[in-house]
Amino acid sequence: MKYKPAERIQDLQYFGEFGGVNPSISDSSTYTFLSAKTMFDTFEGNAEGCYLYSRHSSPSNLYLGEALAAMEGTETANVAASGMGAITSVLMQLCNAGDHIVCSRTVYGGTYAFLKNFAPKFGIKTTFVDITKTEAVEAAIQKSTKVLYCESVSNPLLEIADLEILSKISVAHNLKLVVDNTFSPLSISPAKLGADVVIHSLTKFINGSSDTVGGVVCGTKDFINDLRNVNDGAAMLLGPTMDSLRAASILKNLRTLHIRMKQHSHNAMFLAKKFQEDEFKTVYPGLKSHPGHGVFKKMMNETYGFGGMLTIDVGSLDKANELMELMQKRNLGYLAVSLGFYKTLFSAPGTSTSSEIPEEEQKEMGLSDGLIRFSIGLDNDIERTYKMMKECMVQVGVLNAEMV
Ligand code: PLP
Repeated sequence: MKYKPAERIQDLQYFGEFGGVNPSISDSSTYTFLSAKTMFDTFEGNAEGCYLYSRHSSPSNLYLGEALAAMEGTETANVAASGMGAITSVLMQLCNAGDHIVCSRTVYGGTYAFLKNFAPKFGIKTTFVDITKTEAVEAAIQKSTKVLYCESVSNPLLEIADLEILSKISVAHNLKLVVDNTFSPLSISPAKLGADVVIHSLTKFINGSSDTVGGVVCGTKDFINDLRNVNDGAAMLLGPTMDSLRAASILKNLRTLHIRMKQHSHNAMFLAKKFQEDEFKTVYPGLKSHPGHGVFKKMMNETYGFGGMLTIDVGSLDKANELMELMQKRNLGYLAVSLGFYKTLFSAPGTSTSSEIPEEEQKEMGLSDGLIRFSIGLDNDIERTYKMMKECMVQVGVLNAEMV
């Protein structure tokens, strides 16, 4: 039986300080102690339930973390100020100078840039591989490898990582499997498939209103305690702390995630099928033509569908830009990076979210100039949206008028 993440979130019922239906927001950076001894014990990590200082933890952040841990089926979680804050603290925690990471070659541009350009400053090296090729992953593992890193559904190429196989490889080589599940919340539950650490950029589908950045690390109690350790914890010492007001607002938005994901997936599936019929090179994990379709199907919690992300190739960057500008003018969505908003967002990843990846490498991994990445919105009448998009496509000349 598949995991039921939405039910796990629903079953968490919090009461506010005054009986409110939402927990009270903790509006404090520091906390009082009735005895000096308890303060000492808390610093030593031995005073369960006591708060110390909000960079370490705060009630509002703990509520949100608990809900996200329930969603992912991990023991606990630590929220962060951004997805990158979550990713970088995990990797800095797991690796020392001289250690090595094997990472999927198609990951979010910021993650790629961190591993390629920043982590080497601390003596941490990375080999980028095609994560869909088991042999390539195994061949890249060295004696010093500590982490196998991937996205369940990769940004922007939507490659699907077979987490069960990657987990077996990780166990065999004593690695930590770290999975960024930003593109597939609820649909895929990486920890249930063997991931050791699950990360999200909360900025995207989970918050869903494009009004804040945020991140989370879901994992074991031991690992999350390590991250928060006052002496050597990356989250504590690098300080990517989420503000309590934001944690409270993200928790409220999380309550509707299951409804939103179903609608994002429904709309994206509809458009992907239509775009494919229109003979665009269309990539969507829900299409049978997608090389990772079977793997996604095998891993997924079916109710939530294949997610809201798809790409099409319109041939050239100029055409992609022209089409995106026109769609924005017609109020079909926003020419903007990011994803998971109620409105459709579109961007050309080669010149935006993946621009950190050198052109040569973009070509090698199949990231073409004319690629448009769509984060499909919650439109009520997706057929109407499709008709309007088609008119734009004909107007800019990427679709033959006879096909309309
Ligand atoms: N992971 C993925 C898959 C992303 O797409 C992004 C941002 O686009 C991030 C992580 C980084 O998250 P944030 O922008 O919240 O730092």
